[in-house]
Amino acid sequence: MATKSKKYVYYFGGKKAEGKADMKNLLGGKGANLAEMVNLGLPVPAGFSITTECCTDYYENKCQLPKSLYDEVWAGMKKIENEMGMKYGDANNPLLLSCRSGARKSMPGMMDTVLNVGLCTATIPGLIKKTNNPRFVWDSYRRLVMMYADVVMDKAEGLDLDIRKKLDDMLNDYKKAKKVKQDTELTAEDLKFLADEFKKKIKKEIGKEFPDDAKEQLFGGIKAVFKSWNGKKAVSYRRIEGIPDDWGTAVNVQAMVFGNMGDTSATGVAFTRNPATGENLFYGEWLINAQGEDVVAGIRTPNPLNDETKNEQNKHLHSMQEQMPKTYAELMKIRAILEKNFKDMLDIEFTIQEKKLYMLQCRVGKRTGTAALNMAMEMLKEKLIDEKTAVLRVDPAQLDELLHPICDPAEEKKVPVLVKGLPAGPGAAVGQLVFTAEDAVAWERKGKKVILIREETNPEDVEGMRAAVGILTARGGMTSHAALVARGWGKCCIVGAGKLHVDVKGKTAKIEGTNIVLKEGDFVTLNGTKGHVYQKALKLMDASENPLFKHFMKMVDTFRLMGVRTNAETPADAKAARDFGAEGIGLFRTEHMFYGTGAEKPLLALRKMILSNTKEERVKALKELYPFMKKDIKATLLAMDKLPVTFRLLDPPLHEFVPQGQEKQAELAKELNIKVADIAKRGEALHENNPMMGHRGVRLSVTYPEISEIQFRAIFESTQELLNEGYHPKPEIMVPVTCEVAELDVTKKICDRIYEEVCNKFKVKSISYLYGTMIEIPRACLLGDKMAKTAQFFSFGTNDLTQMTFGFSRDDIGGFMNDYLDQKILATDPFQTIDQEGTGQLIQMAVAKGRATRPDLKVGICGEQGGDPASVEFCYKTGLSYVSCSPFRVPIARLAAAQASIKFGGRTAKPAAKKVVKKAAKKK
Ligand code: PEP
Ligand code: MG
Repeated sequence: MATKSKKYVYYFGGKKAEGKADMKNLLGGKGANLAEMVNLGLPVPAGFSITTECCTDYYENKCQLPKSLYDEVWAGMKKIENEMGMKYGDANNPLLLSCRSGARKSMPGMMDTVLNVGLCTATIPGLIKKTNNPRFVWDSYRRLVMMYADVVMDKAEGLDLDIRKKLDDMLNDYKKAKKVKQDTELTAEDLKFLADEFKKKIKKEIGKEFPDDAKEQLFGGIKAVFKSWNGKKAVSYRRIEGIPDDWGTAVNVQAMVFGNMGDTSATGVAFTRNPATGENLFYGEWLINAQGEDVVAGIRTPNPLNDETKNEQNKHLHSMQEQMPKTYAELMKIRAILEKNFKDMLDIEFTIQEKKLYMLQCRVGKRTGTAALNMAMEMLKEKLIDEKTAVLRVDPAQLDELLHPICDPAEEKKVPVLVKGLPAGPGAAVGQLVFTAEDAVAWERKGKKVILIREETNPEDVEGMRAAVGILTARGGMTSHAALVARGWGKCCIVGAGKLHVDVKGKTAKIEGTNIVLKEGDFVTLNGTKGHVYQKALKLMDASENPLFKHFMKMVDTFRLMGVRTNAETPADAKAARDFGAEGIGLFRTEHMFYGTGAEKPLLALRKMILSNTKEERVKALKELYPFMKKDIKATLLAMDKLPVTFRLLDPPLHEFVPQGQEKQAELAKELNIKVADIAKRGEALHENNPMMGHRGVRLSVTYPEISEIQFRAIFESTQELLNEGYHPKPEIMVPVTCEVAELDVTKKICDRIYEEVCNKFKVKSISYLYGTMIEIPRACLLGDKMAKTAQFFSFGTNDLTQMTFGFSRDDIGGFMNDYLDQKILATDPFQTIDQEGTGQLIQMAVAKGRATRPDLKVGICGEQGGDPASVEFCYKTGLSYVSCSPFRVPIARLAAAQASIKFGGRTAKPAAKKVVKKAAKKK
């Protein structure tokens, strides 16, 4: 293996570190920031980071540590020993270590940590003598035994014996027998006894002795952290977050400092600003006489950090500000130094060992969409960041949360609160209770909305948390793993609902002090903003608009160079999208006017048209249909006045509209003056084996030109009527499912004829409009230059284009897409995010060829991917003039487009894009 010359170990400690904040790829986020904190002069226990490269080499080398690592580790150890004035494995003055994971991107709770490494028969007596605190030493030892057995001996070896649970049960049984509630009530003797019992149990279950050698413990810890990179929960998390498997994790080996040395010691987790709301308040939780895992694991409900951020659940508990004011003031100073240096909100971990404060971690904090936006605007005001940075600070997908539903306040008032917890993730969620992560995934795949209820927060549940619309736990604090993960995803979440007693096996939950028992499948509502749970499915409503949101979006648009339109079929949708900032309609699917309420009459007329046997019958039915079609088209043009509206000619397979029910068939038979049996016969005649590739789109126009005629007429007449009424309609006509320019030409002839007729009728010389096509078939991409001879614009229908490129049926993909994702055959679902390698190549080719024929060719996208941030970025880079997406995704697309222009710079020679931008600017 050619890895000998590589440097694997980077030291940090004292006033100088070998690493710094921008070395995250090599040192992991935690290692790079520990180094940065040392360089900033903050109190950090000395340590070293073993690089992520070492992790990948470890895996390449069949899970063997590189040989050169051992010398580097001992050289690093020397430096730690010098800095801390202690010696690893020493009988009189032993140094203890922690081994923590740390990937490039934070994966909270997904990988493993071992604390108190180095405690063994040789070092325990010396430490007791030195600290004069046997209770502390035995508490630290029993923790080491529990953690090491779990992480190194069980999980890393792939045994999955759940040893941690067995040892936890022993601890709980012992506490019960001793009639104590808290771990802190156990004496040194109790803890010593327990550690011995644990070791016997480990021998019995695992068949190996617990290692009593400091060196063996250290390398066992390092390897176990590397192995936890490929642990089940880490792999699941990576898949959801799109983190590549080959990044690897770093290991941070650091001198231990102890928050569990008595009442002048403590440990805590904090955010430099409120991660749920973005408020500029120091926000966190701490515990006296505890080690870090106690706060994040949700075993004890932690105390608030300060008085300002106390809430209903913890207001009776002492804050650090009250109890340790001097150390709190020191922490406040560090908060300011860190924010100034990182120019962002940070998530920090600290420990106080006998009144001395140490920083153990800092990283950019996860936050809700609301908090991300509020913080960006506030930091801009504070001049901590500039406008570009503020725009880049908000993840486009997170904007969704700002538009998240909330409980209808009127309904909420009328219903009693079932149980209260901590408001860990905002918004509201209604769903059916499930008790395990597996059930959450299974129910969600069946199309159900579920709330995952758990006793405590457990990173093992990550897939179930993802599948659920809301998460509810009985234990844990705001910084517990469930809270962090849920917030990162913008998911509604309540933690620490202490009155909830969950029985996972029986799939029930009791509410303390009542007779209420919740069962699997029961409907509940979570108000994640307040932390309230209701035993009923409450009505949800859209959150009222945040004024900062409007301000932020205005700023976003100053950077945006690509247009954003919407897909809308009704005047109401068009209006909603306009309010979200849509600059026109990129797709009006004509057939959608036949769905939903109020569609009965036009649908009957359409059915008559479809089942007509002769041209005369069809023309008669089309005449009946005409007023409905025109009414919708005109109202939509009006709702989008001054902005372009792309009307797509009728597209779907006709047989979809043949009535199936007897009543509707009878009604239609009467209207058509034929027998009911004939309806079925005519319907059968329309049957196709493969309707997605059947008689749809432009092919209908080729066979039945009269169908297109009435659409052209409705568009032109509506336009001219609106012009006469003083409005400024901007229609665009789009021909779907084309693969050959001749199809466009044939249809254009019909269009030209109707255009002439309408101009004559209204006595006008011209009516302004554009004529273009959807590009949904690979052949159309390959012949983009020819298509552009007739088409004045292209709009990529990436739903069909993806279907045709992959040969994956849009309608049947649900059956196997998850297998493709699980087995990593595909990284993402190409129907959600454009497949840049394949479909994307066709798009690039079509754009280049189309613009070679017609340099000012306007090009957009109207498939579902048009609202997906990664796809929007691709569209920008490919030179598209606009993206079009559903109304609620318009703000997301606007932000993603602005971020793309900041990241990739302005574009050249895209006249159509500039025109869209100019228009948008004028509108403002
Ligand atoms: C498409 O195919 O991408 C498209 C927008 O059209 P539809 O989904 O209606 O087929
Ligand atoms: Mg299509």
